[in-house]
Amino acid sequence: MKVIKVGGGCLHGKKAIARIVDLIAAGGKGQVFVVSALHGVTDLLLESLPAVLESEANIPGILSRLRARHMIVARHLITTRRGLENFGRDFRKSMGRLERLLYGLNFTRELTPRVQDVISSFGERFSAQLLASILRSRGCPSGYRMPHTIGLLTDGKFGDATALMPATARNFKAHLGPMLKEGLVVFVPGFYGVSEGGDITTFGRGGSDYSAAVVAAALEAEVLEIWKDVDGFLSADPRLVDGARLIPELSYEEAAELAYFGAKILHPRSVEPLRARRIPMAIKNTLDPEAPGSLVRPRSRTSGSLIKSVAHDTTIGILKVHASGVGARPGILVGVAGQLTAAGVNIKSVVTSQTAISLLLAAKDLDDGRAALMAMRPRPFRRIEVQRDVALIGIVGEGLLRRQGIAARCFSAVAGCGVNVEMISFGPSQVALYFLVRAEDLGRAVTAIHSTFFEEPRCT
Ligand code: ASP
Ligand code: MG
Repeated sequence: MKVIKVGGGCLHGKKAIARIVDLIAAGGKGQVFVVSALHGVTDLLLESLPAVLESEANIPGILSRLRARHMIVARHLITTRRGLENFGRDFRKSMGRLERLLYGLNFTRELTPRVQDVISSFGERFSAQLLASILRSRGCPSGYRMPHTIGLLTDGKFGDATALMPATARNFKAHLGPMLKEGLVVFVPGFYGVSEGGDITTFGRGGSDYSAAVVAAALEAEVLEIWKDVDGFLSADPRLVDGARLIPELSYEEAAELAYFGAKILHPRSVEPLRARRIPMAIKNTLDPEAPGSLVRPRSRTSGSLIKSVAHDTTIGILKVHASGVGARPGILVGVAGQLTAAGVNIKSVVTSQTAISLLLAAKDLDDGRAALMAMRPRPFRRIEVQRDVALIGIVGEGLLRRQGIAARCFSAVAGCGVNVEMISFGPSQVALYFLVRAEDLGRAVTAIHSTFFEEPRCT
């Protein structure tokens, strides 16, 4: 049995959805489909929250936009009148719940993480209802089950929950087993689960991949397929590198490291639930279903090119905390990290020297991070510098740290193009080496590294 995740990028407009429905109808019997919200719907839900807080007069407009997005598809693809009526009834019920939540939010004016999570979970609920109805109207027996009614249990952390696996597996076998035995196509909304206390908790943006991995592990699926509108993992971003090529096979570790980068192929935590049962994950392109895609396994062979990919991320920046004797004085790092954590700022990486702590943050967190540190009393540092015009490059490949000369080759390729390396982080991962360059040098550096490992060396 397979678990298949259908991403929001594939659920973009009537035509694309019709193609997905064809694929499901062709091979989906007895499989579980974990679905994202229709393209853009989660954004729409989250972006409308300020308007909901501002005035209840804004609520009907928001609801009608959501209704239109789904009803256009329903009218087009649900082929029977009964099917359309049944979907309409189901959908109105879910919309009614969302409506009450939005008015409640306006009334209480309290946008708590709890409320934000429950509201943002509705996109996935709608899309699961919609797809099941479309399939059913085509004579393909299907149904959906909501994560909170089949016991997809989480640790209760809003916006960044973790699934409780053994309990979830027990619940799923009881609730989904019979449907699968009957050979139904089963849809489960991605993105969220429910805490033991009954709270809807999401897995963070892009979290449907993680949901799908949880479902695959809980049901002991043979494979988790991730359906996307791209071929799979590539050796570099094709917008920067002409010769970027598909990576046919990766290890869990390699996929997890690459997932942190801008490619947005996969939620970085998706391999966690798969590990215990060593379930493979296949990335498939729905625009080209016969293409091989990328296969992610517990381990992968080291590749002939020595590395698998050179990835990059431009949505980061550095907070440089200058203080003397950082390396020798105990407690500074703990104080700084604690202050940032309390402000809700995630530290992606840190490098310290005797005179400074360099903290790698998401670009969007730089100002909040700086403000949080400036508020420390007494200040354990002299000054703070913010570097925005930087980009992170990572080279990823199993065995990278064990084999001699890979780092040297990478850095000499970069230096050979006159690009300066600003900060290096080497060691925390067995399969990745990260460093920073100036944003304006990014394209040149990535191209140079890619050609040194994948082609004849050349500089652009
Ligand atoms: N719909 C959610 C998001 O946009 C989850 C997902 O699609 O993976 O973040
Ligand atoms: Mg995604």
